[in-house]
Amino acid sequence: MPKLACLFWHKKGEKMNYRNFTEIDEEFICDNCGKKVPKLGYSCRNHCPNCLHSKHVDKNPGDRQEECHGDLEPIGLEIDSKKGYVIIFKCKKCGAIRKNKAAKDDNMDLIIKLSSTGGRSFNP
Ligand SMILES: [Zn+2]
Ligand SMILES: [Zn+2]
Repeated sequence: MPKLACLFWHKKGEKMNYRNFTEIDEEFICDNCGKKVPKLGYSCRNHCPNCLHSKHVDKNPGDRQEECHGDLEPIGLEIDSKKGYVIIFKCKKCGAIRKNKAAKDDNMDLIIKLSSTGGRSFNP
């Protein structure tokens, strides 16, 4: 496995960056809730800590080759013994399933909600 790979957000108008499997931590404005999200600092920021939404921009983690750019909606939660909370996302546009590790400043209320409702709405 390559080192921790992340979704890579790109701001509108910026040219695409095709670096593979690179940890990218940058601030962005959330497409879903409009909140400005600061850099994470210790790891890569790949979803909004406020509403937990992400964006479908990768075919493989970090590659930004995906042209869908749909809204990745959090639909469930897994608890991994190594990674901790892992949020399961479903793309609203194409239906793809993606997973991302939760960040320490994620909205805990939403994480808890996901852990209690995720099992019912998500069939792997
Ligand atoms: Zn958001
Ligand atoms: Zn998609």
